Parts: sequence; structure tokens; C-alpha cells
Amino acid sequence: MNLENKIALITGGTKGIGFAIAERLLKSGAKVFICGRNKLQLKSSLDILSAFGDVAGTSCDVRVEEEIDAMFAECIERFGGIDILVNNAGVGIFGKTVEETSFIEFEYTIETNLYSVFHTCKKAIPLMKERSGGYIFNISSLAGQNAHPKMASYNASKYALNGFTEALMQEVRQDNIKVSLICPGSVNTTFGNGEITDEKDWQIHPNDIAEVVVDLLKINPRTLPSKVEIRPSKPPIK
Ligand code: NAP
Repeated sequence: MNLENKIALITGGTKGIGFAIAERLLKSGAKVFICGRNKLQLKSSLDILSAFGDVAGTSCDVRVEEEIDAMFAECIERFGGIDILVNNAGVGIFGKTVEETSFIEFEYTIETNLYSVFHTCKKAIPLMKERSGGYIFNISSLAGQNAHPKMASYNASKYALNGFTEALMQEVRQDNIKVSLICPGSVNTTFGNGEITDEKDWQIHPNDIAEVVVDLLKINPRTLPSKVEIRPSKPPIK
């Protein structure tokens, strides 16, 4: 795909991996629409990103279907369509056993990491068909295939996201819509109330994920890397 003037919508593009993908796509000539819930963070991210190209965004909670509808309407009004959808917004509540996890926390995780992707894909697919194709990236995790104690809600959300994405890929491939599942290991962001620190330099940098996304977009149309696992090269030996 030639990225010049292509239109990308990135959920959770205000921080971390989503922000890095937004920056990288803008530098490649794409027009980018981002969202996040925190309005101050959205404004400061849009201020920074505007130095790299044509960017817009809105405050949207991807758990709420009506807010997704409004976000798509704004993106279409501003840029005229959608060629690339990056389902990146996600949350993780870690360090709690199932016994300690409330249903509200479980539901919050599933609604953010899974239900939102159903809503955005359902909106994006007809729009991509109108434009004779497109590309959907679902940012999952190695936690979508490796289970860990005290991560059951997050594991459940990402395991389900993997199944959803692999089925969707098969459904829409004949419509020139590519779907790729991106499965990172530890990335140096503030995800899960973490901090970005030099001690975590061994982790993947968000820019490295962005590089992979742009590389996939540039691959020949005949080829579809449908699942990409990305790991730190040298995790600390425990
Ligand atoms: P991050 O730095 O915490 O950024 C998360 C982004 O998602 C923010 O822009 C956040 O903005 C947005 N977001 C969260 N909930 C939202 C909601 N309900 N509606 C709209 N936006 C929402 O996290 P990250 O590390 O970049 O993670 C991005 C994705 O990568 C997630 O899906 C995560 O599961 C996955 N991942 C991360 C790692 C890692 O180690 N960091 C590893 C594997 C996979 P607001 O808070 O303002 O809404």
C-alpha cells in the first residue's frame, strides 16, 4: 500500500504504542485520526503529532458504541473515509487473582479489549469495501496465547481477540481487506499503571511496533502476514 494520503483511524492513539503508530504513519504521508478518553492527553498528543502531518482526533470511550459511531462520523467528515484501522486501545488490570477481581474489573477489560474491536470492525468493513479494500490491525499480546496467574481477565480478553481476528481475516480477505494480529511481549509504556523507565530499556520500544505496522502495510498485496509475534530480544534471565 502506498501510504500517501491514506486515512488511518487508531484507537488509543494518544499514548504508547498507538501514539508511535500515529507518528510513523504521519511521517509516511498518511492522514491519521486518533482517540482516547483523557481530553488533556488527547490535546497534547494532537499538538505533538501535528508537526508530522495531517492529524485529527476526538475523545471517545471505545466501550461505548454510540461514542464509536460519533468518532467514525467525525473521521469521515474530516478525511472522507477509512483505509487503515488500528484497534490498539486496551487496558490491563494485573496482580489480582480471579477471587480478588470484581466483575466490574473483568467487564471493563473485556469491553475495552474485545467488544470495542467488534464495534469498530463492524463500522469499518463496509467503509473499506466502498474504497475497494483496506487494512485492519488488531493489537493483541503474547498474553493472547500464554496464560499467567493473576492475569485471567487480560488473558481472556486477548485470547478471545485472537480468535475473533483470525476468523475475521478469513472472512474479508477476498474483499481486499487484510487483517493482521500483532502480538507484542513487554513494551516500554505506561500500560497497566506502569512507568517508562531506563531499567526497562530491554523491553520493546513502541516505535519498533510502529515500524512493523508500516512494513506490513508496504508488503505486496498478494501476501498477508496474518499474525506477528514481537518479543524483546534479550529479556532479563530470572
Ligand atoms: P498505554 O500506553 O496505556 O496506552 C493505551 C491507550 O489506549 C491510551 O491512548 C489510552 O487513552 C487508550 N485507551 C484505554 N482505554 C480506552 C478506552 N476505553 N477508550 C479509548 N481509549 C482507551 O498502553 P500501550 O502499552 O500503548 O498498549 C496499547 C495496546 O498494546 C493495548 O491493547 C495492550 O493490550 C497492547 N499491549 C501492550 C503491551 C505492553 O507491554 N505495553 C504488551 C502487549 C500488548 P485513555 O486512557 O486516555 O483512554
